[in-house]
Amino acid sequence: MHTPDDNRYEKIKYNRCGRSGIQLPAISLGFWHNFGGVDVLENSRAMARHAFDLGITHFDLANNYGPPPGSAEETMGYILKNDLRGYRDELIISSKAGYGMWPGPYGDWGSRKFLVASLDQSLKRMGLDYVDIFYHHRPDPETPLEETMGALHDIVRSGKALYAGVSNYPAELTKNAEEIMRSMGMHILIHQPKYSMFERWVEDGLLTELREDGIGCIVFSPLAQGLLTDKYLEGIPADSRAAKPTGFLRPEQVTSEKIGKVRKLNEMAKARGQKLAQMALAWVLRHKEVTSAVIGASKVGQIDDAVKAATSPAFSPEELKKIDSILAGK
Ligand code: NDP
Repeated sequence: MHTPDDNRYEKIKYNRCGRSGIQLPAISLGFWHNFGGVDVLENSRAMARHAFDLGITHFDLANNYGPPPGSAEETMGYILKNDLRGYRDELIISSKAGYGMWPGPYGDWGSRKFLVASLDQSLKRMGLDYVDIFYHHRPDPETPLEETMGALHDIVRSGKALYAGVSNYPAELTKNAEEIMRSMGMHILIHQPKYSMFERWVEDGLLTELREDGIGCIVFSPLAQGLLTDKYLEGIPADSRAAKPTGFLRPEQVTSEKIGKVRKLNEMAKARGQKLAQMALAWVLRHKEVTSAVIGASKVGQIDDAVKAATSPAFSPEELKKIDSILAGK
């Protein structure tokens, strides 16, 4: 059993999640990579324990994280049982359903049938009675939104999740989803979109929608899977995500065009007295709509880096302009 650091709640900033009673740490830890059955369990355990010691109270999962799919939730279950037993009430644990999980027409997308069955499976794997947040993982173009939102609503009413979230929903669809939820007397707690210096779609209407409707925002892949760090400046290291056969970042995505920009951003970060990873995290957290940045990590030290980013100096207007011009290739 792990004895957490007594001072853990003084180490990180907590931000209110939209108009709700929940606060989330500015940095959350995601279990997409490095917590699966193919990974070293002792490393996964060490990262989760260290994160909790740093005040990271939120662990983000999904039914399909692994590989193999489902195994990251089993790792979470192991950690909860062996390391963090007794701390459930200090944790926000999320899961999701929306991507293919089992064969046949009921193991994918956004039907009530899929969402309810998938959450039951997730709870079993994690050894939990409830998750704190349950997300619909991606929009389903064929299932009526009323059905998907109705399922999320009923799941929350059943007590198997405390709050509902959506992920990867465009702005307009988010607005419609929230209207449906409101008509049932409920509210979407949080949206989980991809956002980094290399992926800025949320700036084009989504953040405004979230602010207007009081929905929180936790951004994923804020480091563009590791590209927005100093790791790939001299090639692809053997222990990086791009080099791993199970990593979602493929070597061909590490382009010389991107690395050229990363090199300039890295110089800027140095001038600010921080690592590029920290500057990239501070940059996504600069919006007041962004409640938390959910990072991935392969080593304990990367979590230390990230937590320091949450107390970075604010960006001057000149610095923000310079970042925009580097990203525009100027
Ligand atoms: P990041 O962009 O934060 O990338 C994390 C990776 O970057 C690490 O695994 C590590 O890779 C590298 N890294 C992190 N810190 C440093 C550092 N200080 N120096 C050098 N390299 C560093 O996020 P992810 O892409 O991992 O996504 C985070 C989480 O977001 C996921 O775990 C998941 O919870 C969520 N997510 C949600 C999705 C959705 O559809 N809702 C989709 C994808 C993710 P390396 O192995 O190379 O060391």
